[in-house]
Amino acid sequence: MIIDGAVLYSELDLGKLLTLCDIALDRNDTEHLQSALDELERRGSSAETLGEYAGHVAGLLIDAGAALRREPSVSLGLRILEDSWNQLEPAYGAAILHYNTGNAYKALYDIERASNSWAPTIDTARWGLEAKSRYWRSLASVGGANGTPQQLTNLGNALSACGRFVDALHYYDRAIAVSPNFGMAQLNRGQALEYLNAASGSYSIKMLYEIHKAFAQAAASESTEPYARHAAARHAEVAASVILEHGHSLSEDPHALEQDAAEAEGHDEYWRWCLNSSLTLSEHSLYCHCIGARRDDLSILTRSADLSGLLVPRMELLLNRVKSEYCLARALHYQAITKQASLKWAIDAFEGTYTDLLDGELSGIETEFLRTSFRLCFGILDRIARGVCTFFNVAKGSDKLYFESFWQAHDTKSSRWSVLRAYPKTLCYSFLPVIR
Ligand SMILES: [Zn+2]
Repeated sequence: MIIDGAVLYSELDLGKLLTLCDIALDRNDTEHLQSALDELERRGSSAETLGEYAGHVAGLLIDAGAALRREPSVSLGLRILEDSWNQLEPAYGAAILHYNTGNAYKALYDIERASNSWAPTIDTARWGLEAKSRYWRSLASVGGANGTPQQLTNLGNALSACGRFVDALHYYDRAIAVSPNFGMAQLNRGQALEYLNAASGSYSIKMLYEIHKAFAQAAASESTEPYARHAAARHAEVAASVILEHGHSLSEDPHALEQDAAEAEGHDEYWRWCLNSSLTLSEHSLYCHCIGARRDDLSILTRSADLSGLLVPRMELLLNRVKSEYCLARALHYQAITKQASLKWAIDAFEGTYTDLLDGELSGIETEFLRTSFRLCFGILDRIARGVCTFFNVAKGSDKLYFESFWQAHDTKSSRWSVLRAYPKTLCYSFLPVIR
């Protein structure tokens, strides 16, 4: 039962107030939720006075604040969580606390972006990155390889909101593997594929089928939030009409499906690992593991800039360097973690001898494979920074450029950012994760 009026809310004991707030949130009853939140905000100033309810109050302030886009509610919930972390951790566990903190940062990010036509700025991007880190820690607290569909989907959403659609797709796929009918993972997978399509400006018929399938499943799933089901159905219709326009039927060709499945099975151990870990340099591999998914398809977006003179060969050279270093980094990573003897290099003959080290420190060629792979990735990112600055003509050849700071060089920072921001948003979103 819902009680009307803010006056009555103020007379309720905290337990009852929370129950009513939960009900209003479940029913998406905006009016009552607002009154209940007013009262919660009034009371919820100190973690100590909230006692055993602190966790529940914080969670509600964050979730209801997110639903109503009320920044003060979300910030208050976040502050209660952070202030009473040590007191709450034994009861809730680190995974849940990190998860709720992630929800708070994601809500702050969304609230800021909503007032800025959803475009992230250098300042607001910090919230998105913090949300991603908190969801990641939540997942790490349960062993990394596990995670609930909601946990995996929220991490995917934070990554996607920071422009990292590829990473996001990986987590949606994991959520769907745990629970195939989890509608929000399907919906967001469809959306991430659409973003990918918008960013690359290319698509395959297989991609259209995957987009259609994801949205149709989201629209049909009872676990999808009602507001999102309508949106999913609309997107499914659009994808369907494009498929029909291209002269295909809505059901995917069963022969082609069988062939894709057979090809996915036919990859050797190494390529199966690459494909399943999303470590290929091919857009196609993000939604299909057929034989074509192994082919690197890094290319320059010709519609984004005036490609003339020496720029094309310079960019081709850069792409080849990136691919070649990436292949080595990936192979070293694989060598460090593979258990299959036949695919390992015979490294015993080259191994050194080491003294026993304290604190579990690891030495040896296999460990160095992993460290070197990691270091190579930084080098690759720096090359990408150089490529971006060359491509968009936002740095001098003599400028020292590093990926994590390439638009933070003092006074040039904002001018580089403003040039890049003028391009379609999906192009530059993915650089935001490096902003500190
Ligand atoms: Zn394929």
